[in-house]
Amino acid sequence: MSTAPAQIIQVVIASPLRQHFDYLPAAGQIAENYPVGSRVQVPFGRRNMTGVVIGHSALSTIAADKLKTIKQSLDSFALLNHDMLALGRWMSQYYHHPLGDTVLNLLPNTLRKGGLYDAYTQQYWQITQHGSGLNEEAINRAPKQQSLLNRLREQATNNDSHAAISEQQLKAEGHSRPTALALEKKALITRSSQGYYPSDCQSLLLGQGDDIRPTLNTEQIDANQLIDHSLGSFETLLLEGITGSGKTEVYLRAIEKVLAQQQQAMVLVPEIGLTPQTIQRFVARFSVSIAIFHSGLNDRERLAAWTASKEGKASIIIGTRSAVFTPTQNLGIIIIDEEHDNSYKQQDGIRYSARDVAIILAQKQKIPVILGSATPSLETYANVKANKYGHIVLKNRAGNAKPPKIELVDIRRLALHQGFSDQSISAINQTLAEGKQAMVFVNRRGFAPLLMCHDCGWQAQCGQCDARLTLHQRPENLRCHHCDFRTAVPSHCQQCQSNNLLKVGQGTQRSAETLADLFPRHEIIRIDRDSTQGKKAMGAQIEAINRGHPAILVGTQMLAKGHHFAALSLVVILDIDQGLYSPDFRSAEKTLQLLTQVAGRAGRSDTMGRVLIQTHLPDHPLLMSWQQHSYQGIKATLMAERELYSLPPFTHMAILRADSLKPQQAMQALNDLLRDHNANNYCQILGPLATIMEKRAGRHRAQLVIKSQQRKALHGTVKQFIQQLEAMKLPSGFRWGVDIDPQDVI
Ligand code: ADP
Ligand code: ZN
Ligand code: ZN
Repeated sequence: MSTAPAQIIQVVIASPLRQHFDYLPAAGQIAENYPVGSRVQVPFGRRNMTGVVIGHSALSTIAADKLKTIKQSLDSFALLNHDMLALGRWMSQYYHHPLGDTVLNLLPNTLRKGGLYDAYTQQYWQITQHGSGLNEEAINRAPKQQSLLNRLREQATNNDSHAAISEQQLKAEGHSRPTALALEKKALITRSSQGYYPSDCQSLLLGQGDDIRPTLNTEQIDANQLIDHSLGSFETLLLEGITGSGKTEVYLRAIEKVLAQQQQAMVLVPEIGLTPQTIQRFVARFSVSIAIFHSGLNDRERLAAWTASKEGKASIIIGTRSAVFTPTQNLGIIIIDEEHDNSYKQQDGIRYSARDVAIILAQKQKIPVILGSATPSLETYANVKANKYGHIVLKNRAGNAKPPKIELVDIRRLALHQGFSDQSISAINQTLAEGKQAMVFVNRRGFAPLLMCHDCGWQAQCGQCDARLTLHQRPENLRCHHCDFRTAVPSHCQQCQSNNLLKVGQGTQRSAETLADLFPRHEIIRIDRDSTQGKKAMGAQIEAINRGHPAILVGTQMLAKGHHFAALSLVVILDIDQGLYSPDFRSAEKTLQLLTQVAGRAGRSDTMGRVLIQTHLPDHPLLMSWQQHSYQGIKATLMAERELYSLPPFTHMAILRADSLKPQQAMQALNDLLRDHNANNYCQILGPLATIMEKRAGRHRAQLVIKSQQRKALHGTVKQFIQQLEAMKLPSGFRWGVDIDPQDVI
């Protein structure tokens, strides 16, 4: 008995429709010409679209004579292998995002748009055996072909080991591609492709491998033993090490083992953690090819790194969130640095967590995944407690460094000098006098977070958002940090015409200016999103800091993560009080993580570090207990609070977010949705509520929060809401989206 041939090709395309589409092979083709995981061009509606083949089948729900035919195959092999497609399916189900859009999102932009996989590889041509044996006269009626064939014959005879010539070279000698293709058709010559990366390609680096490996301390040795032991099977390990404890060194040693087994290593870092300094540590350690993924790459650079990883030519892959989708030949380990970092969660489209996706990927590939952090998320702690993750702890700083001394400076009723207390100023003074560097952490970029009328209290507001505008200097303007709206600074109050306008509060620009006045003989280095605009700017600033001269660094959280500044001994934190009182239930956790990271920059070498925290809340219980017992000491308190209020990680959560152009529309639609909803006993639904910033970038926002002890019930409820929404008639301009395991809940 023979089974029916599988001649239906199942294709997904980037579309909001939650289904695949069936097609027939083109005339003369069979299903095998369209491997699962390869791309095809298919007619869809009146357009042609790029799709990915996800399966072959003998049956279709569409009548055979209604089925359309595939226009063309774009790849002769699977661009997405079995595991990557499985990952796409998992993401689509878990995050409730259409499969086609999810799968297409796994590809770099160029490929998603139907571009050639080998667009950036160089073609090489060489004569075949058949060609060599050909009688000279056989093609003398095609002189161009004869000339090219002779050229390649000559090359093969004279230059045994380099029988192939690049197409570029042949072009320069006057031979054309059509001529080559004609000879290829007759099997007289053949082509091969080789990686061709332009020399200015930022995304592929060849490591030097010439640095000196420090001798590991006993904690690091134990950590590496545990990690080595996990190689070859799936396991999630939390590497919890205080700042400066040498976690990166542990990663480097683990990667060493993986490379020795001819495997690849993937390292994910937070968005602001992927600095030239981070990359340099890998380049200095390993003399292998390193692929780098970040948002500043152009399409060409991204594709070059992607193909190099896929073909196993790049041994180490380092990147931010979306690098988790990079295909590999033989992956041996995934490392996620600062696993608690917010930037691992995508905040639009498919709202995935790169950390959680990486864990699923590791499970499919049967390899270990290492979550590193000085301040792990409570979710990860909960998984450690439930024995789902292993736990490795580094309690001491590496080398000779000691943890910094932390002091709370009570600034209630104190006269401040443009935001600085006397104690902070004299500490900076002393640090500079000792030839060291000081860092000032300010939570806000720009000059002043508020422009206010002293006569009537009017404040400059964004017209598009429920938010105040921030005053910037050089160029001087008012900017919205939520929608990037910009406008000139008014000379008069818009309400009472008074010209008595006050610049209220501290931004990095103002703090840098104040410090320049106070310490005119010292270099002030400002690091925030505005000062690091140019491609090379950040690198130059870091270099200046690393020269080690006495200087003052001023910056936002861009300065907080991953940096290792040897001469930095003092950290002054101007104002973090707000974060301890935000209505977002994760805010205290996030604020204390940030504080720990910022404080952790002080005293990472031989000098003792000192941290001054200016606060109006010196008696705040969390702040006090953090000061005494560090982040590790307060996690039990934070956990207890979450448990009491039944919040993650003690419950599962999803948010249905909606927004509309007209006020009240999003709220109304969610109300209608809820009215027709069949409630599920295992889920709690809160809302609809307007978000704290109800209007943002001109859109009015509302949301439903869904909580459940049971993941299955939560997903069932979300699914039901989606089905309802897809059946509803929605007002124009209305948008909705699902956020599973939301990070920001306000
Ligand atoms: P973390 O990632 O935990 O913050 P790093 O890996 O950046 O810490 O290490 C902090 C500093 O200590 C770096 O300069 C690193 O080179 C150094 N270091 C790490 N391990 C050792 C060691 N075993 N001996 C001496 N110095 C070390
Ligand atoms: Zn006024
Ligand atoms: Zn705005």
